[in-house]
Amino acid sequence: MRTAVEHGSYDDLPEFPVLRPPRPVPGCGDCERYARQHEVAERDRDASRAVDVRVLWRGHLARTHGTDIEGVR
Ligand SMILES: [Zn+2]
Repeated sequence: MRTAVEHGSYDDLPEFPVLRPPRPVPGCGDCERYARQHEVAERDRDASRAVDVRVLWRGHLARTHGTDIEGVR
């Protein structure tokens, strides 16, 4: 059994915020958690936290699901 290597690098992600949050992948608990955190951050009008969640979420999407948000670079 092999252990996955953690890269822990977000250097390839843009620093500016995207307007729309990613879409959660059905059945993925992590995606649901990110979606909930993003909802709470927006409700609190906490823009910097919302950006943080989106960056982490996009990293999760790229690493775990091999996808990214469509139409946003
Ligand atoms: Zn996920």
